[in-house]
Amino acid sequence: MMGPTIGLLGGGQLGQMLILAGLPLGLRFVVWDPDPGSPAGRLSTRHFCKPYDSKETLEEFTRNSDLVTYEFENIPYPLVAELEQKVSLPQGSSLLSICQHRIREKQTLQKLSIATAPFQSVASAGALEECLQQWQTPVLLKTCMGGYDGKGQRKVDKVADAEAAFQDLQGDQRELIAEGWLPFEREISVLVARSTTGEIHCFPVVENVHEAGILASSLVPARISADLNRKALNIATQIAQGLQLNGMLAIEMFVMPDGQLLVNELAPRPHNSGHYTQDGTNVCQFEQHLRAICGWPLREPKLHSPTVMLNLLGEHIPALQAWHAGLPAEAHLHWYGKAEARPGRKMAHLNLCAASLDEALEELEKWKLRSPPKGIYT
Ligand code: AMP
Repeated sequence: MMGPTIGLLGGGQLGQMLILAGLPLGLRFVVWDPDPGSPAGRLSTRHFCKPYDSKETLEEFTRNSDLVTYEFENIPYPLVAELEQKVSLPQGSSLLSICQHRIREKQTLQKLSIATAPFQSVASAGALEECLQQWQTPVLLKTCMGGYDGKGQRKVDKVADAEAAFQDLQGDQRELIAEGWLPFEREISVLVARSTTGEIHCFPVVENVHEAGILASSLVPARISADLNRKALNIATQIAQGLQLNGMLAIEMFVMPDGQLLVNELAPRPHNSGHYTQDGTNVCQFEQHLRAICGWPLREPKLHSPTVMLNLLGEHIPALQAWHAGLPAEAHLHWYGKAEARPGRKMAHLNLCAASLDEALEELEKWKLRSPPKGIYT
């Protein structure tokens, strides 16, 4: 028996992996993405390769979808809000609107009594200078909307640099947020799913290593104490309940030297730091997301293999090609099928599973697929 047809907004690699997880469950997919080379588009029953403001496509996409989901946050909010009126869209538009805007996101977390970095909206270089003086720490200046993978961010160390950073990010044309610079010990994330029936499950906590603002690797289990692990899972559950989440949510957190956890960002969908679930757990984040939005019973995630997930960007592809044939049996390659390998562009990832995290890290070091991110092998 076939399940519903899912209308997928956005057709990148997350969409591709949703389709790969959903087809064996009996789901079908149509994709709306203006990019003719969209990784998910080529796997779909139908690819609506049209701009997101096409009214005609909106009607047709709606007619062809039993329920709609989005796979990245930069889908125009008005489109999602309109679709929500016409077709079942379990994730909803309001969480999207929260996650699209860093200040709304932090205010929402505050309302849920979840700790974050100090933050302030800054509409002038003078306001940025005040943050520097008040917090007595460097400041990370970020665009409120549209930034991802470290884009749209400047570290500002001193008052004399405020004006240049503000101009650099075009602060007079768009909203900016200043965040106090956090000397965190490590970064972790929790992937949590809440079904339309209210059932909630978290995946094992992930430790993330970033390079130049882009996720380089994820390590599972995260190298944190049992107490911190519990705290992280509790925070994720509290957020999922507080938001009445439907679907998957990725919650990025900073572990501070005093053991405090501060939430950085939310992503209301499967997430790069959850890719390890494809090979390390009994259910992957993509299947769990589909189960959640379809209102099907969720699976309780269990880690069966410690896993290191390594992101492979355009510049890592030559090394990958050299090693591809000889990768170890427990290395699982996930290739996104993008035509052009540009530096910094996410092309593929590798999940390396082993009996222990140390073994996986040692194995990975032998392969030198990409230069080891600082701190990862310590
Ligand atoms: P974001 O786009 O907010 O996820 O930021 C990208 C990366 O910048 C994060 O993964 C952190 O490594 C770093 N970062 C973000 N916010 C802060 C902060 N307030 N203090 C220090 N580092 C940060």
